[in-house]
Amino acid sequence: MPSSPQANVDLLARSRSAVWHPCSQMKHYGQFPLVPISRGQGVWLYDHDGKRYLDTVSSWWVNLFGHCNPRINAALRDQLETLEHVMLAGFTHEPVVQLSERLRDLAPVGLGHCFYGSDGASAIEIALKMSAHYWRNIGEPDKTQFISLKNSYHGETLGALSVTDVALFRDAYSALIRQQATVPSPDWRNAAAGESAENYALRCAVALEQHLQQHHARLAAFIVEPLVQGAAGMAMYHPVYLQRARQLCDEYGVHLIADEIAVGMGRTGTMFACEHASPQQPRPQGERGCGITPDFLLLSKGITGGYLPLSVVMTTDDIYQAFYADETARGFLHSHSYTGNPLACRAALATLDIFAQDDVLAANRNKAAYLNGIALPLREHRAVRNWRNTGMIWAFEVDSPHRDFAQRCFALALQNELLLRPIGNTIYFMPPYIISEEEIELLVNRTLQIVEQLS
Ligand SMILES: *Cc1c(COP(=O)(O)O)cnc(C)c1O
Repeated sequence: MPSSPQANVDLLARSRSAVWHPCSQMKHYGQFPLVPISRGQGVWLYDHDGKRYLDTVSSWWVNLFGHCNPRINAALRDQLETLEHVMLAGFTHEPVVQLSERLRDLAPVGLGHCFYGSDGASAIEIALKMSAHYWRNIGEPDKTQFISLKNSYHGETLGALSVTDVALFRDAYSALIRQQATVPSPDWRNAAAGESAENYALRCAVALEQHLQQHHARLAAFIVEPLVQGAAGMAMYHPVYLQRARQLCDEYGVHLIADEIAVGMGRTGTMFACEHASPQQPRPQGERGCGITPDFLLLSKGITGGYLPLSVVMTTDDIYQAFYADETARGFLHSHSYTGNPLACRAALATLDIFAQDDVLAANRNKAAYLNGIALPLREHRAVRNWRNTGMIWAFEVDSPHRDFAQRCFALALQNELLLRPIGNTIYFMPPYIISEEEIELLVNRTLQIVEQLS
């Protein structure tokens, strides 16, 4: 569509008046205007004036293989001409069956049953309900409580908020939810001076054990973001915590829910973050992992390559069997209109095809090493603290005199062709996997300039 500066201004005004934007104070858009995007290509987003922005946050952590990826586009075009949607109660279709089979073959051993939702928060609701319903079905109706990590984020519907520990998102609704308990987060930034990340994780596992010892009779499940707590500001922790959590949950008869909505699909360097929780090396791509198997593994965000909303809750045969009976009421009666949408499933299949055809995880290892190599001046900048990296996620804190650091950084980054969206004083990179070395250089060099200006 042809555009002009005036057309841009009009679009912003119309958006402010008719669209209620998420995660925003609408009034702030007076001072920090919305960015009108007209198209995307690879890692780049273009506005109506043709200015470009490197999508360093993968559009809220969803995009894996770039905007308008030709392979995913082709699969979707084909699906569009075949079947756009059909309800999944009483009906089935090739894309949802294939996707479930392929996920079962890729995921940690034992997760053979896929239940679909439309977004991350709905996957959380499904897992919480399924866990409690399981205990009820096997004659333990008192197990209805949950625990999560301090600073956890699991989405913002009421059930998901009850296991989310971000005060800003939660407090206004506290009267509406049954807030669940938290246990200490193994986030290594909280380790004592001289204490290793591993020892700190083990110390936090002791706190988990104490909680389980006391409360297991009422507990249905422990829900975690494996390895990286995204919304907490990309808090990272040692995988030994997941090993211990698995052992302890088994010991005390509590389900372990792995919320891999942000960290699944290769983001941490393995296909699923749970694979890191192993005394052996993570597996090469295509071989079955040797990490832990959670009772529920949740995927969304990157599963469709960032194209369409879809989520999946994968679970074990033990849990499945507890619902398999003659009475309807023992079944899992959760439903979403768009459950297993064929277009979304087809986008997910095309995404898995790219993982299979290109050696994505190996290529990502090289890209991560390249970024870490050239980032030395940034990493060692006097204002940068807690530099950290897991797979294709980087984060660090910036010492800045500006109280509105996040907004300033976002605005300055846009002027520098970067879409950066700091969480408080934490800058993070979570780029699409197709980012090139040249683009990595641009990202790192411009970020260094921005840090220099804001510190
Ligand atoms: C984004 C996210 C969710 C919620 O997903 P939505 O699709 O935004 O509802 C849940 N858990 C984690 C770890 C997430 O990053």
